[in-house]
Amino acid sequence: MIDLSTLPPLRESLADHGLLADKSFGQHFLLDLNITRKIARLAGPLEGQTVIEVGPGPGGLTRALVEAGANVIAVEKDARFLPLLNELAAVSDGRLTLVEADALKVDEAALACGPGHVVSNLPYNVGTPLLIKWLTGPWRPVSMTLMFQKEVADRIAAPAGADAYGRLSVVSQALAKAKVVMDLPARAFTPPPKVASAVVRLDPLSDAPPAELIAALEKVTAAAFGQRRKMLRSSLRLLGGEALCEKAGIDPNVRAETVPVEGFLRLARAL
Ligand code: SAM
Repeated sequence: MIDLSTLPPLRESLADHGLLADKSFGQHFLLDLNITRKIARLAGPLEGQTVIEVGPGPGGLTRALVEAGANVIAVEKDARFLPLLNELAAVSDGRLTLVEADALKVDEAALACGPGHVVSNLPYNVGTPLLIKWLTGPWRPVSMTLMFQKEVADRIAAPAGADAYGRLSVVSQALAKAKVVMDLPARAFTPPPKVASAVVRLDPLSDAPPAELIAALEKVTAAAFGQRRKMLRSSLRLLGGEALCEKAGIDPNVRAETVPVEGFLRLARAL
């Protein structure tokens, strides 16, 4: 195991570099290594695996990933953190590559040069677009272990019938197995955000539906959940309403929130 004990505690590293959190970058740091090591374990085993981490910030999760034996590619948009992160890279035995970039724009296939995982305490403002990029993009991670606002995490993993069940649940679960694996209160972060957070583990399905079917699924779920209190015959009216439901073998008199992912996939196929 790589020994990072020569590094100062994270709080001290931040102070040494005069770094304060910048809200415009969604910066809420995890400075307790017990927590970041737990997240790395939830993502593991990572020995020898390639891991893309978005937003290393002060590097608490990055330290845990390097310790777990991963080859980490850390993509950080805020250049202020690079000198601090370079100190971590210097003792990481070649296991940490730093990339200063916007994660929404990077080409993960070119960065990872093969299969890899994503593990990240995501910046809240870009969490969902990044998840959709990894679920539907050309580079599909082997697994994703991602921190979101609790409310978003619940939406990703919600089963049909739950209050949180919606478009994000259907699209995520059509493409991956999704489970909330850890809850964290706001006070676990520095500075604390206004809301609680949770880690979701997503394991992309090997037999994921093709892109055209996902595009149709997005259309159907947008219409169905756009008017979630209405019956499908009415909310899906512009896409074929009752006829579409019948073609898909779905009762047109039910509401979107009760239709399981498989039902939405049938509607998308029928469309
Ligand atoms: N991983 C660190 C931790 O757990 O303490 C920081 C997490 S903080 C919630 C989010 C991090 O993502 C910040 O370091 C922020 O600068 C970075 N970030 C924000 N937007 C980004 C983007 N579009 N691309 C890459 N990094 C981004």
